[in-house]
Amino acid sequence: MHETDVPIREKILVYFLYIAISCLFTSGLNIIHAEYMLNIPLTPKAFIAPIFAGLLFGYLLARIKLLHEQMRLMAYTDPLTHIYNRLHFGHFLDAEIDRVKRYGGTFSIIFFDLDRFKEINDEYGHLVGDQVLKEIAQVVGNANRNADIFARYGGEEFIILTPSTDLAGARIHSERLRYDIENHRFSDINHLTCSFGIAEYKSDADDDVPSLFKRADIALYNAKKLGRNRVEAN
Ligand code: GH3
Ligand code: MG
Ligand code: MG
Repeated sequence: MHETDVPIREKILVYFLYIAISCLFTSGLNIIHAEYMLNIPLTPKAFIAPIFAGLLFGYLLARIKLLHEQMRLMAYTDPLTHIYNRLHFGHFLDAEIDRVKRYGGTFSIIFFDLDRFKEINDEYGHLVGDQVLKEIAQVVGNANRNADIFARYGGEEFIILTPSTDLAGARIHSERLRYDIENHRFSDINHLTCSFGIAEYKSDADDDVPSLFKRADIALYNAKKLGRNRVEAN
């Protein structure tokens, strides 16, 4: 899971470091200015103003740093499910294609879509629908390996990049996800299934992002057409 907010421990550390470094800096300047440039002996009272300046300066710098970090997280994660968004998934996909072209190997993508999700929204309302999407992200996130890149592709469509995994491996992984989702007890609804379309990157052909996506999309379409709650490859 990827949080959209900076963790509290990281925030405290950033504030502490920035304030400490700023206070050291302003106190050091005070010493150089008074003792070495003006030749005035320093009393503890003479450090009050520099320490205050350091506190303020460090606090402002830490705020800027944390805001920047938060904006980066917001740009790359989906606010509902807290997993990567489609934009950031594209960055990982480009990098993976470069890696396979240069060093060989393979990877696959798994595209999946909730079955008859419109009916759940219609029956239970959109808030329950949103909760289901969050739970799906948790179930799949727990079943994925650390190296897998998991993102929300669109409304109720998700995508996974499985590095160093061929089509057979992607099928095993997708079958496990399909099983986990089918057997998960959702908090508000009884039962839900997903359909999966998988495709492996063909490094020896002129495969690129659009052609890879197209194959996975056709496979997903076939999974829907053949009755849903199943995995199809292309
Ligand atoms: P299929 O098995 O063919 O995929 O049927 P479906 O009902 O899942 O597909 P359809 O494309 O007809 O409906 C998708 C639904 O997903 C409609 C839309 O309201 C819902 N949806 C998309 N994004 C969200 C979201 O963020 N929250 C909620 N609650 N619903 C969403
Ligand atoms: Mg859909
Ligand atoms: Mg659907």
